[in-house]
Amino acid sequence: MKAKHLVALFGLFIGLIFAGTPARASGQNIDKKVDALLKRMTLKEKVGQMTQITLSVVSQKRPDGSFENKLDLKKLREAIVDHGVGSILNTGGAANTAKNWQEMINTMQKIATQETRLGIPIIYGIDAIHGSNYIKEATLFPQSIAMAATWNRELVRKEGEITALETRAVGIPWNFNPVLGLGRQPLWSRIWETYGEDSYAAAQFGREYIWGLQGKDGNVARDDRVAACMKHYAGYSVPLSGHDRTPAWIPERIMRELFLPPFHAAVQAGVLTAMVNSGEVNGIPTHANGFLLKTVLRNEWKFAGLVVSDWADVVNLYKRDHVAESPKEAVRLAVEAGLDMSMVPFDYSFADYLLQLVQEGTIPESRIDASVRRILRVKFKLGLFDDPFAHAERLARIGRKEHKMVSLQAAREAITLLKNDGNLLPLNSTAKVLVTGPTANAKSVLNGGWTYIWQGNDERYYPQEDKTVLQAIRDELGENRVTYVPGTTIDKVLDISEAVRAAQNADVIVACIGEAAYCETPGNINDLALPQAQIDLVSALEETGKPVVLVLLEGRPRVIRPIADKAQAILMAYLPGPQGSVALAEILTGKVNPSGKLPITYPRYVNDLMCYDYKYSEAYDVNRYHPQWPFGYGLSYTHFSYDNLQLSAEKLKMNTPLKVRVTVTNSGKRPGKEAVLLYVSDLVRSVTPPVRRLKGFRKISLQPGESRTVEFTLSPQDLAFVNKNNRWTVEAGTFTVHVGPLSKTFELLR
Ligand code: BGC
Repeated sequence: MKAKHLVALFGLFIGLIFAGTPARASGQNIDKKVDALLKRMTLKEKVGQMTQITLSVVSQKRPDGSFENKLDLKKLREAIVDHGVGSILNTGGAANTAKNWQEMINTMQKIATQETRLGIPIIYGIDAIHGSNYIKEATLFPQSIAMAATWNRELVRKEGEITALETRAVGIPWNFNPVLGLGRQPLWSRIWETYGEDSYAAAQFGREYIWGLQGKDGNVARDDRVAACMKHYAGYSVPLSGHDRTPAWIPERIMRELFLPPFHAAVQAGVLTAMVNSGEVNGIPTHANGFLLKTVLRNEWKFAGLVVSDWADVVNLYKRDHVAESPKEAVRLAVEAGLDMSMVPFDYSFADYLLQLVQEGTIPESRIDASVRRILRVKFKLGLFDDPFAHAERLARIGRKEHKMVSLQAAREAITLLKNDGNLLPLNSTAKVLVTGPTANAKSVLNGGWTYIWQGNDERYYPQEDKTVLQAIRDELGENRVTYVPGTTIDKVLDISEAVRAAQNADVIVACIGEAAYCETPGNINDLALPQAQIDLVSALEETGKPVVLVLLEGRPRVIRPIADKAQAILMAYLPGPQGSVALAEILTGKVNPSGKLPITYPRYVNDLMCYDYKYSEAYDVNRYHPQWPFGYGLSYTHFSYDNLQLSAEKLKMNTPLKVRVTVTNSGKRPGKEAVLLYVSDLVRSVTPPVRRLKGFRKISLQPGESRTVEFTLSPQDLAFVNKNNRWTVEAGTFTVHVGPLSKTFELLR
C-alpha cells in the first residue's frame, strides 16, 4: 500500500473515532459567557448579529449575472467586518462540492473570528430538506411526504442523523428543516415538504427528525450534529386559495388543536430554532403576529431558541402585505412581534433601521439584547466559539454507501400500492413491458424541489450514477424485455399513437405519470387534475386492453379519476428520492413487498377536498368522505389480519392511561411489513368531534404465518380537544378505539 493511501486511511480512522465525540465542553455556563460577551458589544454589533444575508450577496458574479459558489472577499469583508452580520444562508447558483463548501465556510469563519473586534463566528444556515441537497456528493432521501408514508420512525430518525453528519462535515451547523405544517390543502405547492395531513403524525415524525439532527441529549456541539429549525411557524400550509404565501383562515381553536401541536412537540423535543410562516393567518402576517411569536411560543411553551424570519418577510410587511407604511415600520413590527433574526436577505437595511429605531427610543435596547442573547446562545451551544471550522478529514463522511442504503430502504417502505386487481403485481418473470409517460426517464421527477438547485428541475445537475425509473426497470428486467416510448411531456402530447403501437408487443404497460419538479411559489397550480395530455396517453393505452400499471411520481395528489378505474395496478411513489427508481423496480418484480400507506387523503374530485378527520356533518345525509383513496390506505403483496383488540379498561378513570392491544398476523404467503394505525373517536363532546383522529402507529415486520401483539398506550392528552374557550380539555363520555378493521368502545368516567 502506498504511503498516500495509508495517510488517507489513518485520516479516515481518526475521522471515524472523532465523529460523534463531543467537541470541547461548551455546554456549561453558556448563559454566563453570553452575558459577558453581550456586555462588550456595541449596538451596531448587536443589530448585525440579528441580520442574515444570502450567499449571493458575498459571491462573485458571472458575466451573465448569475452567481457561482465563489466568494468575493471584498463583499464578504463588507458583510462580516463592516456590517457585522451574524448569519449567512443558502447556496450560490447550484449545489456545491463538499470541498468547496468547506473552503467557503472556513474563509467566512476566519474573517469573522480573526478580523472582527469580538471574533463572533458566523452561523451558516441551509435548506437540507431531503438530505444535504446542496452538497453535490451528499446522500439524498425521499421527500418528507414519502418519509411519512413509511410510517417508520426509525427511518426518519436516521435521515436526520445522516443529514446532520453530512451537513456538519462541510462546516454548516444549521438546517432549516423540518417542515411541521400540515398537508391539508392538496393544491399547495409545498405539500411534499410536510409529513402529511395529520397533526399527530407530523408531531411524531418531526420529533424523530429533530432528535436525528440534534441528538436526543441535545448536545449539538458534537461534530455530527446540527441545529434544527422548525418551520414555518405557524399556519402556513393551508392557504385558502391553494397558492403559496396567500392568506390562511384558522380560528384559534383549530390552530391550537391541529396546527400547533407538531410545533409544540418540537419545542418539547428541544428544537433550537424556529422560522416564521411567510404568509398571513386571519389577516395578520405572521411576521407581525405577537400572539403566535410571543404569547404562545415564548410565554406558554417557554421556547428559548432563536426565531428567524423567512425570506424577505420583514420588508414584505411593507412591500407585499400593506400593514407597514415604510420598510422601517416593517422592522419595528417584526421585532416588536418577537423576531430575533431577519433573513433580509439582500442588503443591510434591517440592521440600519433597527439601529435607528433603538437610537430614537422606539425600541428599547433591552429588547435587542434579548434577541442577541438567543442568537449567541445557539452559537455557543453549537460549539462555534470553540471550533467554527470545517475539517478536511470529515469529507469522507459524505455520501457513504451505508447512507444510500438507508435512503433506498426508505423509498422501499414509502412507495404505496393503491390498487392491484387480479394480483397483476408483482410482474410475472417473463412479462415484456412497455415503459411510457413523462416521469419515466428523468431524475428530477424522483426528487422534486430542493435538489441541487432550489427548483430541482435541471437534469444536468443530477449525478450520473442515479437511475431513472426506465433505467432501473431495464436493469432489473433486462434490456430485451423493456421498450420505451415517452408518449407525452408533463403537459403536452408527443407521440401517443406510437405508445399505443408499442403496447401491442408488450404484456404489461408501466405508465409513469405525475409532475415536474418545483418548489414554493413557482409550483402554484390552478387545477389539481393531472394534465390532460397524460390523461389522454393513459386512456389510449387502457383502450388497448393490455394491463396498465400506473406509477405516480408527484409531490401532491393530482386527481386521476378518469384513468384510475381502468388501470389494473397503481403505485404512489411520491417524490421517493434518487433511490426511488430502484425501489420501484424492485417492487414491480416482487423483490420488495410494498408497505407504504398514504399520509394524506388522495382526492377523487378537484373540488372535494376533505381530510380523513372530517366532521360527522360531512358524511351526513347525502354527504360522504369519498376520496380516490383514504388517508392510511395502502396494500401489500401479502395479507394482514387483525384479531383480538383489547383495552385495559372498559371504564376508564380520568387522567389514567389506557393500554390497547391487538394481534396482527401475516396470513399471506410473503414476508411483509405492516403499518398498524390506531385511531380514537370521541363520540360526543361540546365541540363537534371529528369522526376519528390518529393517536398511534407502529411499523412491524412479519413472516408468512407469523403473528405479533402490538401494544399502544393512550395518554389522557390523546383523549383531549380544544374547547370553546380555546383550552385543552377532556370530557367524560364514550370513546371508540379503531385498529385495522376492529374497534372497541370504552367509557371515560367523570
Ligand atoms: C422558504 C423557506 C426557506 C428559505 C431559505 C424561503 O423561501 O420559504 O422554507 O428555508 O426560503 O431558503
